Amino acid sequence: MKIAVLPGDGIGTEIVAEAIKVLNTLDLKFEMETALVGGAAYEAYGHPLPEATLKLAKEADAVLFGAVGDWKFDQLDRHLRPEQAILGLRKNLGLFANFRPAICYPQLVGASSLKPELIAGLDILIIRELTGDIYFGQPRGRRVASDGNFPGTEEAFDTMRYAHPEIERIAHVAFQAARKRAKRVTSVDKANVLETSQFWRDIVIEVSQQYTDVTLDHMYVDNAAMQLVRAPKKFDVVVTGNLFGDILSDEASMLTGSIGMLPSASLNATNQGLYEPSHGSAPDIAGKGIANPLATILSAAMMLRFSLKQEVAAERIEVAVKTVLTQGYRTADIFSEGTHQVGTVAMGDAVVAVLKAQS
Ligand code: NAD
Repeated sequence: MKIAVLPGDGIGTEIVAEAIKVLNTLDLKFEMETALVGGAAYEAYGHPLPEATLKLAKEADAVLFGAVGDWKFDQLDRHLRPEQAILGLRKNLGLFANFRPAICYPQLVGASSLKPELIAGLDILIIRELTGDIYFGQPRGRRVASDGNFPGTEEAFDTMRYAHPEIERIAHVAFQAARKRAKRVTSVDKANVLETSQFWRDIVIEVSQQYTDVTLDHMYVDNAAMQLVRAPKKFDVVVTGNLFGDILSDEASMLTGSIGMLPSASLNATNQGLYEPSHGSAPDIAGKGIANPLATILSAAMMLRFSLKQEVAAERIEVAVKTVLTQGYRTADIFSEGTHQVGTVAMGDAVVAVLKAQS
């Protein structure tokens, strides 16, 4: 079980250290190697994703990633910015399926901006296609318009594009994930307006015929954005394209009220994956020892489940996280009256203590 550890910038190093501590508590043998990525790699080697880091990631079974980015890199050319490292890893590893679970822990029900009854027991999974759509479609650029509303003026354009196999494979991922859950898939598109979306819908229906035990419905993205805050528990698995998924997965993550709690996984066709918290590098709190490490620890659990096939160990970590919440441990982002506020390291220690007590 070879893991490439890429802590990155800001709180990345602090939270990844806690996840590693947790992994090392399990009775499993890992081969872990650490490398620089993002702004830290740019400062050391002049590139956010150096060749050696990419090689390490490619050769590993899984990548445990912290976060990248800092305001001090905002002036760099786009291709040298820390965030480009994530796009480079996705592209080079062929990571096309992004899993973003949004789970509301009963202990944190008060942290959401929605009413408790709307989110108590919430457990949804957003699956976002990651390598196609308007983010990568060609042609793109700027030109002087020859038609449209303002011919003769400068315009910018991007191309929304999906290939048949791209939609097919993400649909299979969604139906297979639903089989392990409540067996419901909601496919989100904008088929009333976009040809790409109609194509998406046709193919998802085609694939669904191989999964007759799973219920499929379709929803326009504007309605899905509304339903996610109106009645989020109606969803089980949501599958959608890159652009809509980008927005909806962030919306869904905030339902739980705590960005510091939400893990994510990005997988390729051979289940090699990149695992990272849903949040960024939080430069505002970096170095203060107060970041919540639980999203990264839960990402490590997803890594054990999906790429390393260690379901029992994954569940042990998830149970341990629930237990520390029940015991009242809270980092500042999820703190409420009557609970016990701790820093990053103490939260990691609390998870380790529960794991040790389990065995
Ligand atoms: P952010 O997610 O880093 O922070 C948003 C807010 O949430 C901040 O107030 C931060 O303190 C808080 N927060 C985030 N994670 C937390 C944690 N674990 N514990 C407690 N509080 C936490 O988003 P941002 O401020 O918009 O971006 C900061 C930098 O991160 C930018 O450079 C951005 O490009 C980058 N970013 C990177 C990724 C990634 O690496 N995948 C994702 C998003 C943003």
